[in-house]
Amino acid sequence: MDDERPSGDTITFLGTAGARIMVANQILASGGMWLNIGGTEILIDPGPGCIVQSTKRKLRAEKLSAIILSHRHLDHSADLNIMVEAMTQGGFRPHGQLFVPADALGTEPVIFSYLKGYLEGITILNEGGTYSIDNISFSTPIRHIHAAETYGMLFKTANHTFSYIADSLYFDGLLRNYSAELLILNIVFAEPRPPVDHLSFPDAEHIITELRPKAAILTHFGTSMWRAKPWEMAEGLSEKTGVKVIAARDGMKFDLSTLGNA
Ligand SMILES: [Zn+2]
Repeated sequence: MDDERPSGDTITFLGTAGARIMVANQILASGGMWLNIGGTEILIDPGPGCIVQSTKRKLRAEKLSAIILSHRHLDHSADLNIMVEAMTQGGFRPHGQLFVPADALGTEPVIFSYLKGYLEGITILNEGGTYSIDNISFSTPIRHIHAAETYGMLFKTANHTFSYIADSLYFDGLLRNYSAELLILNIVFAEPRPPVDHLSFPDAEHIITELRPKAAILTHFGTSMWRAKPWEMAEGLSEKTGVKVIAARDGMKFDLSTLGNA
């Protein structure tokens, strides 16, 4: 059917910073993730600097089919308005879908009203929901434990599955819902820091050990993770678990074909 599908499904990391200090000082970039799956382009969590990071990498917003927010926090949503404007070329080419949790449109909506009219539609994410964008489907299986209404995502493409575990305090529901060939985990802390509702490196070890994906990517680093050299921690975790664990780098492009055949 889709004969002109470009080869190579990729995920580009437009930033790897998590939480306030890393983002406010731009010690690492914070632009979210840009998917290109069989030519369908999707942007997830356009944090501060997304427009700068994406244009710098020659990613073209007008090619986006959808933008998805895991939750409304600023490090995931700050550039949403400009990315909608860029996707629709200032409203001259209305198109594209926006997927957001309900509270992102509440009393302080993350999107300006005049931009809503440029979109093909806005879909509210719900626990247990399944959605489609072209021939890609994704689900938001479980609500996370986080200050804002937050969902991770499980993607199914023609060739692969991958999941994105967005901001959350650890709970066993994460294990039950995100099994995939590739796991992307937002790991803010090097050590657990309860009751702050973020995952820590020991949580990553537990999740990866239990789910045993073909590969795991750690991202969204807070200051403690950054100081602890995430690339070294990832290497240690690879040796310990036998799972290929990668610390994302700003601008890193991960090719899903490296996961082998499904
Ligand atoms: Zn958050």
